[in-house]
Amino acid sequence: MESELRFRSELERGIRDGIPRGEFIPYYEKQVDLDTGELTGFEMLARWNNPTHGLLSPEIFIPIAEEIGLISELSESLIRHALSDAREWDPRLSLSVNISPLQLRDPWFAQKLLKLLVEANFPPHRLDIEITETCLHENIGVVRTLITSLKNQGIRISLDDFGTGYSSLAQLRTLPFDQIKIDRFFVSSLGTSSDSATIIEAISSLGKGMNLPITAEGIESQEVLTAIRKFGSFKGQGFLYGQPSDSDGVRSILAERSLLATIAEPDAAPSVDELPFRPVPRVASA
Ligand code: C2E
Ligand code: MG
Ligand code: MG
Repeated sequence: MESELRFRSELERGIRDGIPRGEFIPYYEKQVDLDTGELTGFEMLARWNNPTHGLLSPEIFIPIAEEIGLISELSESLIRHALSDAREWDPRLSLSVNISPLQLRDPWFAQKLLKLLVEANFPPHRLDIEITETCLHENIGVVRTLITSLKNQGIRISLDDFGTGYSSLAQLRTLPFDQIKIDRFFVSSLGTSSDSATIIEAISSLGKGMNLPITAEGIESQEVLTAIRKFGSFKGQGFLYGQPSDSDGVRSILAERSLLATIAEPDAAPSVDELPFRPVPRVASA
């Protein structure tokens, strides 16, 4: 217990010191159109380049950053880095970022995000925010206002890890999502579990009925890819397309495919002066 506590406080101190030192870096996973095999964008996945322990997974440090109140600062530094990387990519490629439920409770979140977009001169329509079902479970009114505000700026919103949390179908209907992501748990077990196939079939019908595009996460093999394509026209991601890589890795991938931006896009984001610097009003939970 004592050594666990020592490790935990070492991580806390490490996060505090590591943010200004730039130890938290974005890795990127390819997102692909499963019908054509075309690369459509990347999901940014946080990594901690820890001086003692090497590259650490977000599952270790995100919950701690949330608990010690540093998640916004950490996330903002990662998004800033990712927007700057993505400016070098072909403008048809999108950038997806994961957002903690705690950030969605921040009434200034939309404004902070828009400021980052303006600073990077990054067009909002290329940014996709991924939120998990946990966000919907509490403060649905605040989340609805925030999502609407982000969408009004042209940012897209995806519901991540669908099927593993507590979202109700009513919430799916009333919140203006642009996309659903099927959790990798269902996708990777497609070959071995008939329950997973039934669930994916149901999510696919839901997507078709509600006109919501679907991304399948966790495609690890050709067999799973073949199986998932039978359910409809999905986008997908997973280790079949390669492990997540850092910004240099992405640049090499894109250079090989002639998908690096040729010239910087002209002023795609609004200017700082045009930003509505108002917090999202607090609304009672529905
Ligand atoms: P997620 O958003 O669902 O991201 C997908 C996770 O699945 C990533 O793990 C990715 O490396 C892993 N993955 C992708 N394809 C495959 C596959 O084919 N097989 C297997 N076994 N795994 C695959 P990672 O990078 O460890 O991220 C875990 C979670 O941490 C993410 O789940 C996301 O919820 C969270 N996360 C990552 N970056 C951030 C961030 O910047 N902010 C916040 N708040 N959360 C983040
Ligand atoms: Mg995600
Ligand atoms: Mg996910």
